Amino acid sequence: MTVQASIGIGANLGDARGTVEQAIARLAALPASRLLAQSSLYLSAPIDSSGDDYINAVVQIGTGLSAHDLLAALQQIELAFGRERPYRNAPRTLDLDLLLYGSEQINRDGLIVPHPRMTERAFVLLPLLQANPLARIPGKGTVQDLVGLVKDQSIHVLK
Ligand code: ADP
Ligand code: MG
Repeated sequence: MTVQASIGIGANLGDARGTVEQAIARLAALPASRLLAQSSLYLSAPIDSSGDDYINAVVQIGTGLSAHDLLAALQQIELAFGRERPYRNAPRTLDLDLLLYGSEQINRDGLIVPHPRMTERAFVLLPLLQANPLARIPGKGTVQDLVGLVKDQSIHVLK
């Protein structure tokens, strides 16, 4: 069975743009998965974090992986890019978030889907809307409606 999943990508250390582009290639190559859509790259000011501006993007994949296997794969890719977690919301070489997994609501074994903070973040909602204009966040509503609530946040399209 194939499920459509949305993955949020963020980076603000080192060659952040190169990292995001390579991460998208790694996501496209995940087992039992294919890339369905990808947003532009966006530039956003750090929120609850520090350091340089972030490069953000969202990709939509079709995947046969379970949600937990997909999260494990995302964490492997983060590690491959040298992600460390010295403290909460530290600057990061690569952050991969499982935003949506079909229309499922999951809170089990350390995985929460929809990603709990996604509705507050323009750097998630705007690229998500571009990658999947019909996206709906279970329990919250359509992304189209939710972007209106974050329109004051500073973010712009890089390419
Ligand atoms: P954030 O992405 O909110 O900035 P982190 O990337 O530091 O925070 O993630 C903190 C923890 O959240 C990770 O250890 C991860 O296991 C857990 N987690 C729970 N649900 C998700 C999800 N849907 N996507 C990514 N990580 C998740
Ligand atoms: Mg994360």
